[in-house]
Amino acid sequence: MATYKRVVLASRPQGHVVPQNFRLEEVPVPALKEGELLVRNHYLSLDPYMRMRMEDVKSYAAPQAIGDTMVGGTVGEVVESKNPKFAAGDKVRGMFGWSEMGVSQGGGLVRLDTTDVPLSAYLGAVGMPGMTAWYGLTQINQPKEGETVVVSAASGAVGSVVGQLAKLRGCRAVGIAGGKEKCDYVVNELGFDACVDYKAGNLKENLAQATPDGIDGLFENVGGEIFDACLARMNPFGRVALCGMIAGYDGDPMPVYNMRYLLTMRLTLRGFIVSEHMDLWPQGLKELRELVAGGKLKFRESVAQGLEAAPEAFIGMLKGKNFGKQLVKLI
Ligand code: NDP
Repeated sequence: MATYKRVVLASRPQGHVVPQNFRLEEVPVPALKEGELLVRNHYLSLDPYMRMRMEDVKSYAAPQAIGDTMVGGTVGEVVESKNPKFAAGDKVRGMFGWSEMGVSQGGGLVRLDTTDVPLSAYLGAVGMPGMTAWYGLTQINQPKEGETVVVSAASGAVGSVVGQLAKLRGCRAVGIAGGKEKCDYVVNELGFDACVDYKAGNLKENLAQATPDGIDGLFENVGGEIFDACLARMNPFGRVALCGMIAGYDGDPMPVYNMRYLLTMRLTLRGFIVSEHMDLWPQGLKELRELVAGGKLKFRESVAQGLEAAPEAFIGMLKGKNFGKQLVKLI
């Protein structure tokens, strides 16, 4: 009997995530019913939001159930179809989770054109992370030409796109990232104007040097000390797109002291969840797709090999070990 592997949530983390919170299982490939299709996943996307789903706390989405396949976006190929809308050989994006295969009735599946965009990019710059960058920047930061946009986790899947889109809109783009190698990449490869290495010490001074005219649009991905330093640099009527607070996801405390700048600088701060704005995805993805196909939007990937490597890669991502979009290659 043919089988495939999947990773389920074995237990909820107590503090930091550990490999024992996950369990690898081997299950039979089901026989298809009329209307169903079978997908062989080629790549799994590992994303910070999964850490929040592992906890049973009030959030925008229900917690991941113990024993269920870990949630996650995937791209792959239809290998068998009893659904008239899809044929074997179609490349598709779906939410099959941490799993080598998935069965679907077609709902929520998107057929992908891989002629000028690689399959994996549909999980990154031309997928949910890219769309997150596009949404937060264009709808919340709303930067005008000549303004300064700062983005944290700047070398990552979301941050790298934010800065490049800001540059294309005539802004000064400043990143914040961990380590010299990531910062060099952000400036030299992605074309940001500056990047502050928060691990080098002197965060406040270095951020002030990189933002001589203050900050007009803050795209916040991290929280804590980095968010605090940025709040103190905000210009009057600045806009904060509160996209993520990864520094606090894995059980570490994340104090923020500079909230008074929200008042004194009359800031607008808006949290957002990109999946709640599906109406804008066609517009955003069209722009992102054209930019990637034309070589005007660059991206980088960290690729772990095999589903067995997913827990370790996920834990590493929460510690900044990834360099660019974290993926798992499944085939
Ligand atoms: P990344 O590819 O940026 O990977 C995560 C990065 O976060 C790490 O590489 C690391 O970069 C940084 N990081 C991790 N822990 C810390 C820490 N304690 N302090 C500072 N930096 C840390 O991930 P994504 O681009 O996928 O996601 C970025 C953010 O966007 C996350 O907060 C995520 O939750 C959020 N997000 C929100 C969405 C929404 O709809 N609101 C949708 C998608 C993502 P470094 O080495 O530079 O520190």
